[in-house]
Amino acid sequence: MSEKIEKYVPCPKCAQQSSVELLCSVNTENDTDIRSAIFDETFFRWKCKKCGFQTKLLHPLLYNDVKNQFMVYYIPKVERRQISDEKLELEFSDLSYIKKRVVPDINSMKEKIVLFENNIDDMAVEITKSAVSEIVAKSTSRTVHSGYFMDMDKEKNAMTFQYFVGGDRRPYIQTIRLEVYNRSVGIVKKYFPKENKKAGFLNIDSFWAKEALRKYKNATY
Ligand SMILES: [Zn+2]
Repeated sequence: MSEKIEKYVPCPKCAQQSSVELLCSVNTENDTDIRSAIFDETFFRWKCKKCGFQTKLLHPLLYNDVKNQFMVYYIPKVERRQISDEKLELEFSDLSYIKKRVVPDINSMKEKIVLFENNIDDMAVEITKSAVSEIVAKSTSRTVHSGYFMDMDKEKNAMTFQYFVGGDRRPYIQTIRLEVYNRSVGIVKKYFPKENKKAGFLNIDSFWAKEALRKYKNATY
């Protein structure tokens, strides 16, 4: 099931008001083009019918992948750690087996989609990224701003991340051995077994990972 809402938006260039239909909820089974539109960033593109001005029209989007049993709720610049959606909880009476995440930006949404499609634990990935970002900061002597999962290669026993470092946010690729990720999976299983059973949509990001590592260190020393 997909949900559309109609909205009137003024063009930032010519101020002409026009009505747009915004897809605010998509199901990958019905909307088979949506995934590629999100990944090539055409999904949020908007063009003024009067003057032709093009921009991005960012709006909340619930991405529901039934087959892979996850939902990613993109809410631009959301700061809350957890979002409850009563309507959704009622609609799907037992959502506890579905992974539900809320993300503040499009890169994070893409990252979650790739991770869950490949059955990779995003909590373990965040813990790994957080630990590896310290190594990147040391080896580059620069501030690490953000990092994203790129690839997992079981044959090469490798997981690759892309970080953005320094004032110019330069991309920096770091590959690690899978043991590092597997160790994080162990930490999640042992210390945060109930995290995925929480109601609502969780924001599992670098902030969450820092908190999780702090709790883990307190528990182990
Ligand atoms: Zn215009």
